[in-house]
Amino acid sequence: PAARPSPGLMGRILGRGEAKADEPRRALDDAMLEELEDMLVQTDLGVETALRVTANIAEGRMGRRVSSTELKQLLAAEIARIMAPVARPLPLYPRTPQVVLVVGVNGSGKTTTIGKLASQFKAAGKKVVIAAGDTFRAAAVEQLQVWGQRAGVPVMVAAQGSDPASLAFDAMTRAEAEGADLLLIDTAGRLQNRQDLMEELAKIVRVIRKKDPTAPHNTLLVLDATTGQNALNQVETFRRLADVSGLVMTKLDGTARGGVLVALADRFGLPIHAIGVGEQIDDLDAFDADEFARALVG
Ligand code: GDP
Repeated sequence: PAARPSPGLMGRILGRGEAKADEPRRALDDAMLEELEDMLVQTDLGVETALRVTANIAEGRMGRRVSSTELKQLLAAEIARIMAPVARPLPLYPRTPQVVLVVGVNGSGKTTTIGKLASQFKAAGKKVVIAAGDTFRAAAVEQLQVWGQRAGVPVMVAAQGSDPASLAFDAMTRAEAEGADLLLIDTAGRLQNRQDLMEELAKIVRVIRKKDPTAPHNTLLVLDATTGQNALNQVETFRRLADVSGLVMTKLDGTARGGVLVALADRFGLPIHAIGVGEQIDDLDAFDADEFARALVG
């Protein structure tokens, strides 16, 4: 599970003050920066990003006496600065159907996220079709059908174990015939056999490109916030398997604060299109850099 900063992250460095006026202050020195760095690493920012953040905070401020509140504000501002460029909703293109391939390991929240996205787009007046592309996982297909019903969106399914690429092709045909705005394609998340998965994803892409050479227009990687640092490996792996264009982080409603997103933003700069904040259909929020930074700092 992700390391979690205690509510008083800075309190541990500076001690707790009763009121703002008599808050303890401490000189910003090497020892304090090192403690800060350690805490940021524990918060899943990773060493590189933690170093960069503390260096930026130190710049021009060494020796200055700072309170916990000031330090928190500096830190939140620094993190928000890293996150602001990646806080971008899923772009909508004039070309329809816009094909959104959804990838990620099993259990990350792909199915749920597709259901939530379908519902949001439908509410925004878009015509949506879902393809249950993980044809091997009967449970995932059933789940997706339930989500489709909730969202009022058709779900294309195929016989268990049949070729996901041919389902994707059929779904594309239907989406075109019905004049759908969006086609959301679920995919398998079995990382046990990466070669198979890579070929499966590549074949889906090949086949939908026969219909539209510009598709897929987005490849969304769904990450589970509770896996902490593991998200870095998942991004690296999936970037090798598919042309990942953006991220969704799920399960940010629990104890995990998603500190790894800062490391991800710093390293890959991939847009964060949305965050999952619960198991209900409306529990998908836009990613807000300032809000995220404040919550992370605590
Ligand atoms: P998939 O295997 O990637 O398709 O994952 P699922 O969509 O089936 O999700 C796995 C589990 O995570 C399910 O129990 C979901 O209800 C749960 N889940 C998904 N997104 C969220 C979220 O944002 N918050 C919480 N608390 N649970 C989530």
